[in-house]
Amino acid sequence: MQFIEALKLRSKLFFLFILITLGLISVGIMGTTYVNSMKKNMDSLYFGSLVPVTELNDIIQTYHIGLADTIYKASRLELSTDETIFAIENALKEIEKRWSSYMSHFKRDDEMEYISYTDMEIRTTNRYFLKVLNAVKSGKDISNLSINTLEKQVSNIHYVIQKLINYEVRVAQYERKKFLDTYRHTMLQIGVVLSLIIFGILVVLMYVFRSIQDDHSKLELAAKKLKLANKKLENASYTDTLTTLHNRRYFNFVYERELKRAKRNKTYITFMMLDIDYFKQYNDTYGHVEGDFALKSVAKVLKDRLKRPSDYVFRLGGEEFGILLSETDESSSAKLARDICDAVRFREIKHENSQVSEFLTISIGVVCCVADEALNDEILISRADEMLYVAKESGRDRYIITSNVSSAKAKIVA
Ligand code: GH3
Ligand code: MG
Ligand code: MG
Repeated sequence: MQFIEALKLRSKLFFLFILITLGLISVGIMGTTYVNSMKKNMDSLYFGSLVPVTELNDIIQTYHIGLADTIYKASRLELSTDETIFAIENALKEIEKRWSSYMSHFKRDDEMEYISYTDMEIRTTNRYFLKVLNAVKSGKDISNLSINTLEKQVSNIHYVIQKLINYEVRVAQYERKKFLDTYRHTMLQIGVVLSLIIFGILVVLMYVFRSIQDDHSKLELAAKKLKLANKKLENASYTDTLTTLHNRRYFNFVYERELKRAKRNKTYITFMMLDIDYFKQYNDTYGHVEGDFALKSVAKVLKDRLKRPSDYVFRLGGEEFGILLSETDESSSAKLARDICDAVRFREIKHENSQVSEFLTISIGVVCCVADEALNDEILISRADEMLYVAKESGRDRYIITSNVSSAKAKIVA
């Protein structure tokens, strides 16, 4: 059955089809063989017994009616000479014809002896009737013919032929019994073979369908794994390896989508641009490895602060981060920016060469507005960039927020 499991789906169904076809063909062959043997048996019953018995009965009848009755009538002068001759000649011819026909059928060895005996008896009896015929032909008076002799002749031949008839009937009964035995045997054989075929087909069907199901499950599992792998791949292509934040690629994708949504719904959209203060000096002081740790720490602060599903944090490149918020008004955005600045500073990452604090700090440029059709895709980023520049210029470790996306008017918060 491992062989079936190894087959492909199409081959499995084909295999099943072949098996069912073979089963049907073998049942067909058995049926045809049985019908043929039944025909042979019927033929042997018909030609071996029924026809011979009819012929022998005809011969007996002809002896009684065609010969004995004719001679009675002739002796009582109820028939003319010509009528008598005609009747006797016809009867004798009929007997000859019937007997030769009977002899021409297939005969068993064990009956040959008795048939020869019957043949001899028929010839003897016929000779007697020929004598009577010749007497009639030569115009002799047959009224004084011995009825006793006539009856003896007829009853003797009747007895002899009847014995043959009885034999033929016994043969017919034997043939019928043989036929019934063969019939029962064949029916039993067909029953057993059919049951075996049906059982075999069921077993193979079970295996085929189970292995199809297995294949299906394996396929489903493979599809799931593939989907998962694709998802991982997609995530990897959208993730920054150092900080595990979303990368710039994902930012481009999300930014466009969220901006369109905000424009459609005419809701608030906030974009923040963050940059670590004096990070060049930090690297110079503590080395790049420490610099990477510091980047990860800042990323962690951002992740912890922004938990809503609609909040997005990105590492846009180097030590610059981006935050995209939906449906957050100006005061909430400002509060969040202040919290982030505080949280980074409170993390107390030592930065002895910073000119604004003894710890690592960040500056944020924030732009928050209700999106409308007039809002340009690039203005949001460039305004945030401008606000970041202002934050840097005005002393760092702070955020600058604006809601005005058409002019450089900005609200400076220390
Ligand atoms: P400012 O306050 O004006 O931003 O000063 P800054 O020194 O931070 O100036 P700038 O933003 O131009 O400096 C960026 C520095 O960030 C330069 C580079 O050494 C550092 N940097 C950029 N990407 C990485 C990074 O992946 N790992 C580390 N360790 N440092 C990085
Ligand atoms: Mg920078
Ligand atoms: Mg910087």
